[in-house]
Amino acid sequence: MTEEKCLCEPTEILIFPCSGGSNVGQIVNETAKNLNVQGHGKMYCLAGIGGHVSGLIESTKAAKKIVAIDGCPVHCTKKVLEHAGFKPDIHVVVTDLDIQKNYDFMMDFKEIKKVTDKILVKLGK
Ligand code: SF4
Repeated sequence: MTEEKCLCEPTEILIFPCSGGSNVGQIVNETAKNLNVQGHGKMYCLAGIGGHVSGLIESTKAAKKIVAIDGCPVHCTKKVLEHAGFKPDIHVVVTDLDIQKNYDFMMDFKEIKKVTDKILVKLGK
């Protein structure tokens, strides 16, 4: 059997985006990338948590903070994490920030910044 190992390097703050198939899902993805690039945490692999990949599960257990970002009230990120036994420390939903969900994938930089800023405030930054 092949050993399941995560190639990602965990940090104390792990950021899980839903990366869904809508504008808000992709705003989430861009937000997670921004936070990672700016050094506020490590964008992590939600699909691996859903797949119960042991390396990612263990790395997530070691995280001091788990940030869950969802595009809409379906809360896929939060549900996947909870299904694996994790409770997000921070949970932000894009549509709660007066950003409408649609499927045209047109993203406004200001919307990505709005979500990024909301998470930074919750992180105390
Ligand atoms: S939370 Fe909403 S946008 Fe994100 S994956 Fe689920 S249904 Fe799609």
